[in-house]
Amino acid sequence: MPWLDVPTLLLALLLLPFGLVVGSFCNVLIHRLPQEEEAERNVTTKASHCPSCKAPIKPWHNIPLFGWLWLRGKCAACGWRIPFRYPLVELLGGLIAAGSVWVLPFGTLVWLKGVVCAFALLVLFFTDFTEFILPDAVQFPLMALGVLFTLPSLFLGERLVTIFGADPQAFLKVDLWFNGLQAAPLWTTYGEPVTLLQSLVGLAIGYGAPALFNLLYKAVRKTDGMGMGDFKMLAWLGAFFGVGPMLGILFLGAFLGAIVGLPLMLIRREGGQMMLPFGCALALAVLPIWFYGPMAWSWYMGRMAVGG
Ligand SMILES: [Zn+2]
Repeated sequence: MPWLDVPTLLLALLLLPFGLVVGSFCNVLIHRLPQEEEAERNVTTKASHCPSCKAPIKPWHNIPLFGWLWLRGKCAACGWRIPFRYPLVELLGGLIAAGSVWVLPFGTLVWLKGVVCAFALLVLFFTDFTEFILPDAVQFPLMALGVLFTLPSLFLGERLVTIFGADPQAFLKVDLWFNGLQAAPLWTTYGEPVTLLQSLVGLAIGYGAPALFNLLYKAVRKTDGMGMGDFKMLAWLGAFFGVGPMLGILFLGAFLGAIVGLPLMLIRREGGQMMLPFGCALALAVLPIWFYGPMAWSWYMGRMAVGG
């Protein structure tokens, strides 16, 4: 008997509205968490309001995507043009929830971990992109969560469940508590799980190594190479995935940052410092490493062995 007897497409349609609503809450976090004032950072009790004129938003105008379309992208009270980011983040939230069931086995720990990670990256990408801030209120809980995700397999052991695969003809056996990287959507081929020790070491190195790098950088250039938020992001990514994949994310992120950043520096050529949201580059690097990192690494090691 399958663990959950619902076809993938139906599951995706059921999850879509949840994703849109969570995406809408992500917009609240993205707008409020980087605020200077303590009271402005309240994301739970304060009702939704227009950031421009502070008028409360009517419930039917607050429906994800449709509210924005209904209002044609403008505040009903003051006509303030609602940034395109709002419907975009809601749409991405919907896609994360609906798409998750195709790439990860729904209802298992690795699915939950993937969805939590994706929504966290959605928030961090946009706070870094718009305000150059990676809020502690998001990143510290993620550090703890990354470690917690390793505990069920440690205490509860392997538990195989059967679920619908992306191919509706084939049922798949998956470990309910698996928490590592895998070549999705091939759920039959597992990577190594992340152990408690790997998670803690990843957390420590993610926080420590860039801090050391910055001390050296500061001694030479008299300025910070990376912001504190970037270390914390590497720390929770280390807790989620262990040291190896975290370093993979760091290198791919630096590579992506260089591709985008170097041409920009040449164009501007103001000689001064230029702010680049490195958290955005890290966020974009997570997905390829999650799904293709282990494969790329074993290919590389194989080449090394053959090439000598
Ligand atoms: Zn307004």
